[in-house]
Amino acid sequence: MANIKYYSEDTIPLEMHKVRIIQKLLLLPIEERLRSLREAGFNTFLLKNRDVFLDMLTDSGVNAMSDRQQAAMLIADDSYAGSETFYRLEDKLTEIFQTKYFLPTHQGRAAEHIINSVLIKPGDTVLMNYHFTTSKAHVTVNGGMVEELIIDAGLVEESDLLFKGDIDIDKLKEAITRLGAAKIPYVRIEVGTNLIGGQPVSIANMREVSAICKEHGIISLCDASLLADNLYFNKIREDEFKDKSILEITQTISSLFDLLYFSARKLGYGRGGGIITNNERLFDMMKELIPLYEGFMTYGGMSVREMEALTIGLDETMDEDMINQGPQFIAYMVEELKKRGIPVITPPGGLGCHLNAMKFMDHIPQEEYRAGALTAALYLCSGVRGMERGTISEDRNPDGSDHLANMELLRLALPRRVFTMSQVKYAVDRIAWLYANRHLVGGLRFVEEPKVLRFFLGRLDAVNDWPEQLMAKFREDFGDSL
Ligand SMILES: *Cc1c(COP(=O)(O)O)cnc(C)c1O
Repeated sequence: MANIKYYSEDTIPLEMHKVRIIQKLLLLPIEERLRSLREAGFNTFLLKNRDVFLDMLTDSGVNAMSDRQQAAMLIADDSYAGSETFYRLEDKLTEIFQTKYFLPTHQGRAAEHIINSVLIKPGDTVLMNYHFTTSKAHVTVNGGMVEELIIDAGLVEESDLLFKGDIDIDKLKEAITRLGAAKIPYVRIEVGTNLIGGQPVSIANMREVSAICKEHGIISLCDASLLADNLYFNKIREDEFKDKSILEITQTISSLFDLLYFSARKLGYGRGGGIITNNERLFDMMKELIPLYEGFMTYGGMSVREMEALTIGLDETMDEDMINQGPQFIAYMVEELKKRGIPVITPPGGLGCHLNAMKFMDHIPQEEYRAGALTAALYLCSGVRGMERGTISEDRNPDGSDHLANMELLRLALPRRVFTMSQVKYAVDRIAWLYANRHLVGGLRFVEEPKVLRFFLGRLDAVNDWPEQLMAKFREDFGDSL
């Protein structure tokens, strides 16, 4: 795709694959969408898929598989222990990451569970560029704390900084001096920083962090769940790597960390997850927990079919033409929204397009969940299901007050290789309508609120009848169209 030149002025992201299996979609009338939104407690996690038109909730476990992945699933070697399928996956990981040891887990957070139960003591602090919901929860349930050291510019919503996921090196040095290395079980870098808009981390920054960790004898850890997008950005945004292959870039990254883990629901167009390392001591500390929590060492909760698909999916991740589709579609969507003056996180990252609800819904108090309201309103006017990544995604402070998020985002994930350009254009069109009518949208309040990870199962309600008013305006403007 990188070398295509067009006759016209247009830039058209061009997929280097074609669709050979399709799934029929349904677009409900807005009245029914409102009914299902109310049933779901204004929480898009609780919507039924049959009520959703374009599912942009997440990139997790919904990336499209290739013909080669599907074919590989048929040759899976079904056995509890010692399956050939496992060894194929293990070999592929060794080939790509040059790591000796692999612990399979049923998904990314299971890897986090294992890592944190072994490494965290009460009173410890984990330093990281930015937290992910489950990554933070696993630190805190083990009595640890999280300190985020992302560069200040990383939290500026609209910018042209190429690597907004980088750690601030001065902050890192200061935190190590203040806390002491003994209180820091590991420093975590999350590539493709999920909660701040899928923003990449530069290899230059990883190198500095890795060197500082070595100097202080602190474990360096990489959450590689969103590695595919990050690799693409390392290649196109970091000069040193523009002529390197994706495999070479991967190996460079891998060599900088003591420990890596990933959710294969994102990485490798698959399911499952795992931990990889060259450190035998760490491997030995963690391996006993695999049979206890995940399953035997040669499947770790994954099915053999999942493992076969992942082996091929990891291979495809090393192909620039496979991993560039997501970032290029996202860049297109971001540019189209920007042209229409709609507040959106820039530069475009991986994972999805992120609307800046802090601005989009600036007439709603932050305590009434700007991003949550935007997420609900967009589903209502389009059938597009996004995910709130703002204050609802933060659990409350110990004193019971809301922990107001740094960023209020509506994340519209573009699962890899799934949506077409016309579907992206439809979403842009409805977002533009909603932006023009945003003053009709009001806030939300909790009616049922879990203590941990409340965004998954919490139920909310509109503070007034704004959903009905928005629906009435939709009918006025769109007639009896869906
Ligand atoms: C999704 C994700 C996880 C958790 O993985 P699951 O497979 O959903 O449990 C961890 N870290 C990051 C950065 C993720 O995006």
